[in-house]
Amino acid sequence: MFATTPAIRESQKIAFKKPEASFVGSFFALGQVPRDGLPQVAVAGRSNVGKSSLLNQIVGQRKLAKVSATPGRTRSLNFFRIDNRFYLVDLPGYGYARASQTMREQWSKLIEQYLTSAEQLIGLVLLLDSRRDLTEQDEMLMNWLAQRQLPVMVAVTKSDKLSRDKVTRKVREVEQSLGVAAIAFSTVTGAGRSELLASVRQLVNEHLSATRIGTDGQK
Ligand code: GDP
Repeated sequence: MFATTPAIRESQKIAFKKPEASFVGSFFALGQVPRDGLPQVAVAGRSNVGKSSLLNQIVGQRKLAKVSATPGRTRSLNFFRIDNRFYLVDLPGYGYARASQTMREQWSKLIEQYLTSAEQLIGLVLLLDSRRDLTEQDEMLMNWLAQRQLPVMVAVTKSDKLSRDKVTRKVREVEQSLGVAAIAFSTVTGAGRSELLASVRQLVNEHLSATRIGTDGQK
């Protein structure tokens, strides 16, 4: 077993504690998004993958993520401030079957601009439905981030719809084919909620300590 110290136990408690969350706003262009120095973690996936449900669960307050599911806001970058330390950025869902070609192009342009050039973006949580294959658009998103060498974490959603064996196989398959960490997630069973939140908080903490060291080093 790993040794634990009071400091480790304390940091584990913080990693899993319920987040303090508030909805900051919906933004339709990269130039409008908050630039206040807080790191940003994007959450993306094709339409109907379970993104609003996941955000509801992570944010812990139904009303908040409902905001991002209201018509109109499905085309924007929706910012949630978490723990007063970072933003979760809800990106427009893509692959919506009934969307017009123009709408699709607008969505993908906004997502591309954000992922390739948002200065305070530090990583992406990509949602994949446990019963579906990766689409070209999912791969495109990953490629945009790979250019900047930002970490990607995959949440394999609706894991309650498959047997435990099949979910494990799917998670492994995703990890092997994409070369990134993946976790099974379900809003029905609560699987993956704590782990995902803890991983995002860890990413933020690592970023904040690295930038602090960077700043100190320059003095
Ligand atoms: P979004 O379009 O990506 O925001 O997807 P939603 O969160 O609106 O979910 C789409 C549908 O999938 C809804 O009918 C949800 O109730 C359902 N759903 C979302 N997450 C889960 C899950 O973990 N398990 C199951 N069984 N259904 C889910």
